[in-house]
This record gives sequence, structure tokens and C-alpha cells, in this order.
Amino acid sequence: MITIALTKGRILSETLPLLEAAGIVPECDIASSRKLIFQTNQQDVRLVVLRGSDVPTYVKRGSADLGISGKDVLMEVGGDNLYELLDLSIAKCRLMTAAIKGAKPSTGRIRVATKFTEVARRHYADQGRQVEIVKLYGAMEVAPLLDLADEIVDIVDTGNTLKANGLEPVDMIAEISTRLVVNKAAFKTKHAQLMPIVERIEAYLDASA
Ligand code: AMP
Repeated sequence: MITIALTKGRILSETLPLLEAAGIVPECDIASSRKLIFQTNQQDVRLVVLRGSDVPTYVKRGSADLGISGKDVLMEVGGDNLYELLDLSIAKCRLMTAAIKGAKPSTGRIRVATKFTEVARRHYADQGRQVEIVKLYGAMEVAPLLDLADEIVDIVDTGNTLKANGLEPVDMIAEISTRLVVNKAAFKTKHAQLMPIVERIEAYLDASA
């Protein structure tokens, strides 16, 4: 059995055509179902629909063989037990630091609000800056406005959300997009079953590039 972990939410509808290109079609409409595990037209392939931040965990631990996950999540919770195979070019955006527009960069220890605590820790450590990380789960843009933090680390697409809240981007941390990942051990033991799926998705991406 091959288990593929999908990220629910906005990227799911863009993921399903890739699977279809690989000949994998879920047994029923995923978007309108309350189920979390779906059989497919392929007897030995099933899909599990997860919160994005949980996908790397299932793949790293081998509960899923393949996973579809944002690079932001992989940078935060990825690790040794998975390979990144393909850039699916879905949900492209940037991971950036941001601060109140026109604010003077503070020199001492700064407070940084983010849900990407590991990414933020590494970024500021690389810059040799001392930070106190404030973990938030959403609406990071509010933190500098209410003096909870000096800077935020967040996903930026058009930049409109920052602008609407009087913030501006400061440093670019990474270009983000959705990736296809594989459990390292499964990539060896199930190579013959996994490679046709990976190659068909790659061919579909090449054809639509
Ligand atoms: P924007 O105003 O276009 O810069 O969008 C930024 C807001 O939308 C942020 O609060 C992000 O959390 C969210 N966002 C935009 N693009 C993505 C993406 N590809 N993945 C996850 N969140 C995103």
C-alpha cells in the first residue's frame, strides 16, 4: 500500500490534478467529504488529508510514503527522514521578516512574533542577532501594532496584508512553494511503486510549464 499525505485547504484543489495526471483519482469528492482517508481508483494507493503542518511528521515517521507540503512547513518541521523530490510550483510566496513601516531597526535584543519559530531562530542566529521569539498561531501582523513584537516572520504573497496593517517587508528568508516529499526508507523499499507516480507528476509539470 502507498499512502500519500495531502495538505487540506487552499492547495488541495491544485494538488488533485497532479494526482490525476499520475492516474490516481479519489473514490469520492474529497472537498465535500468529512472523511480523512480516501481509497482511490488504484487498489494499492490511498490518500490522507491533513493539516499542512502535520504532513512532514507523517512522512518522516513513515506513516505516509509521499507527502505534499509547503516549503515553509518543511523548513519548520522537516528533517532527516525525508527527501524533497519535486517543486510543484503551487502556492508560490515568500517567507519574510517585516516591521512597522519606517521603524528604525533596533540594535539590541528584539522580539519576533511568528508561527515559524525554528525558521526565525535560525534566520536571526545567522545574522548574529539576539531575539526573543513570541509564538503565535495567526494574524502575526497585529503583534508589532500592539507592541507584542518588534518584527514578525510571516508569509508574504502580494504584500497587501502587510501594507494594510502599516507594516513593510524587511528581509527575505526564502522563496516558498509546494513540494512533493518522500519518506527516505520508503523511497528504497517501495521504489518500483513510487517512481511511476513521481515521474508522471514530473511529466505533467514539464508539460504545463
Ligand atoms: P498577501 O497579502 O498577498 O501578501 O498575503 C499574505 C497573507 O496570506 C499572509 O497572512 C499569509 O498567511 C497568507 N498567504 C498568502 N499566500 C500564502 C501561501 N502560499 N501559503 C500560505 N499562506 C499564504
